[in-house]
Amino acid sequence: MTVGVWNYLAEYESEREDVLGTVEQVFSSGRLVLGDSVRGFEREFAAYHGVPHCVGVANGTDAISLALWALGVRPGDEVVTGANTAAPTVLAIDAVGAVPVFVDVDEATCLMNVDQVADAITARTRVLLPVHLYGQCVEMVPLRALAAAHGLAVLEDCAQAHGARHHGRVVGSLGDAAAFSFYPTKVLGAYGDGGATITAGPDVERRLRRLRYYGMEDRYYVEETPGRNSRLDEVQAEILRRKLRRLDRYIAARRAIARCYDDGLASTRLTLPVTAPGNEHVHYLYVARHPRRDEILEELRPHGIELNVSYRWPVHTMRGFAHLGYSDGSLPVTERLAGEIFSLPMYPSLDADTQDRVIDALRKVLRAG
Ligand SMILES: *Cc1c(COP(=O)(O)O)cnc(C)c1O
Repeated sequence: MTVGVWNYLAEYESEREDVLGTVEQVFSSGRLVLGDSVRGFEREFAAYHGVPHCVGVANGTDAISLALWALGVRPGDEVVTGANTAAPTVLAIDAVGAVPVFVDVDEATCLMNVDQVADAITARTRVLLPVHLYGQCVEMVPLRALAAAHGLAVLEDCAQAHGARHHGRVVGSLGDAAAFSFYPTKVLGAYGDGGATITAGPDVERRLRRLRYYGMEDRYYVEETPGRNSRLDEVQAEILRRKLRRLDRYIAARRAIARCYDDGLASTRLTLPVTAPGNEHVHYLYVARHPRRDEILEELRPHGIELNVSYRWPVHTMRGFAHLGYSDGSLPVTERLAGEIFSLPMYPSLDADTQDRVIDALRKVLRAG
């Protein structure tokens, strides 16, 4: 069987009854939309983060977009973020008419280079949007200091970092609001789409609840625009509730796999991922680097291993974002890393034999090269 970066079937096999039980529970509850499961998940997900409010939405992209709007971002405002991210981070900024402004990434961690943020701030900047890429947290202390000095909000993109910690505090509790995706591959993943925004701000919460529900508080009366239909599905919420209780176990499994790769590949010429000081990494992705990346991926194929690159095209170089006006060479570290990075298989149910197979194949391919 071909090995890819993600596969949920073994996990489903072991959790089948629990997952299918949610369907019976929700379908027989008498309420199919915004019922007890969404409310329960919102309460429990907020509590996990020690934050008072959580609003479930349809996906992670909406979680970012609606959070930006709820934080007061309006068309023409600028949002500072990184270009080595999932395109949806930037699409979500674009969707509210705001302008993404990119800083480069740190060479060692691939995370937003916080030293460059001060120079990116202008009179139009409203929000700093750190992406906790691959499963570890951006340097938040200097970032928050900058936000405070300039009167800006901080929105954390936590789509890849559920449960990660920074100086002992869980991500999502480090800014003014935080957006999560529960896309199936994520560290906390549903069996379909889902997302949520958490916040300590009661005004932000009230606006989020309106925005996801046609701009309404009461039925059929629009309080504000733009209202959307972006609700977390009741069945997905119930699955997430049950999986949330196992989140720390999923993270422990990911850490064990990362340690196995670290040990097995230490003697190769790959550059392996590093965890920044103060961070507890959750290894959403295990991202290694090599200057001959594309040849290595090609040579792994006959071994039955097909790996991904997150991300091969930095957002600012994509045709769809040409209107942002960036050119090749404007973010040199991001662009160079994009040619070297690749992701190894990583999911909690990845068994030891498959981990060994991946390590053996990589060692062979690298020795031959
Ligand atoms: C997955 C992801 C998103 C988008 O989430 P969806 O649920 O797919 O809309 C946004 N940002 C990052 C960093 C992601 O990894």
